[in-house]
Amino acid sequence: MDQESKKLLEELNNSHSLTVEQYQYLIEHMDSQLLELAAEYARAYQHQYYGNKVYTRGLVEFTNFCRNNCYYCGIRRDNIQCERYRLSKSDIIECADTGYKLGFRTTVLQGGEDFAYSDQDICEIVRSIKKLHPDMVVTLSIGERSKESYQAYFDAGASRYLLRHETANPELYAKLHPASMSWENRMNCLRDLREIGYQVGAGFMVESPGQTAKDLAMDLKFVEEFKPDMCGIGPYISHKDTPFAKEASGTLETTLLCLSLIRIIYPQVLLPATTALGTIHPKGREMGIQAGANVVMPNLSPGSVRKKYSLYDNKICTGEEAAECIVCLKNRVSSIGYEIVEDPGNRAGF
Ligand code: SAH
Repeated sequence: MDQESKKLLEELNNSHSLTVEQYQYLIEHMDSQLLELAAEYARAYQHQYYGNKVYTRGLVEFTNFCRNNCYYCGIRRDNIQCERYRLSKSDIIECADTGYKLGFRTTVLQGGEDFAYSDQDICEIVRSIKKLHPDMVVTLSIGERSKESYQAYFDAGASRYLLRHETANPELYAKLHPASMSWENRMNCLRDLREIGYQVGAGFMVESPGQTAKDLAMDLKFVEEFKPDMCGIGPYISHKDTPFAKEASGTLETTLLCLSLIRIIYPQVLLPATTALGTIHPKGREMGIQAGANVVMPNLSPGSVRKKYSLYDNKICTGEEAAECIVCLKNRVSSIGYEIVEDPGNRAGF
């Protein structure tokens, strides 16, 4: 690690802010010492706000139909190899209920942008889960909708929403998405969600095709300024049936560095060690936690549909049932001295 990197890291640790150029410098000068020092600072905040506790979210991937055509994503509309499925309302509610019985106090309902589910359907699902388990937090992750729709879901009882911004650079956004999709709209959605009162999750892919160190630096600056309650990041991983099939996947090291920097930038943030991170390295999620992450999001979807929610190749945890997943994760987390807790897992200070 050079002197300048060390100085910048200390400055970040004191002020929680750097310029885009300074973030870029850190990314471009990453080495094992820098990774370790950033992780040390990150763990100090993780312990300050969350101790050794790791929160869980039970993920229900309820539809892989999608109207969008993101170049990187395996469930993009034009992928004719993708075997589509939709879970019924009662199936979705049952998954959440199973999750509750397994100790989850947050469920995340995620899907492609599938308008076969009307706003009324989504509201009914949310209301039913809240009626069954008033102390379960219902999080939605169903893409870009109108502010009116977001408000309706919120009024029905959904209190968190995950919508990764994907990249803070509109030019890179335009390379990752067809012209029908707009960076401005995505950013407006995030603002709408916050205004309504949701705990909001943003996030980005690390080393997506064409992404530069400057782009990543812009993502870090965005996190510093917007302060999402949660920030979901994972390596980009190629999918064989997309236009980006031949692009290289993101690396463990860059993802770990970003996790640590995000924890230092916004010490209270909820930071998942993602399935994508666990996919590129057998101990990826454990390393993510040791780099500052404090959330894991195991899958609650029925075994029969797991493999079909294929955003990228070789996704892990598509074979087990929910109950097995949680046992496996508990063991992984305790092997590194952390503990999975039965808790809704709000952002510290929310
Ligand atoms: N339709 C919802 C959910 C998207 S899937 C929405 O628009 O928010 C959840 C996340 O998976 C995406 O936001 C994206 O960041 C990530 N993802 C998609 N394809 C990926 C890939 N090939 N590699 C890594 N992450 C990917």
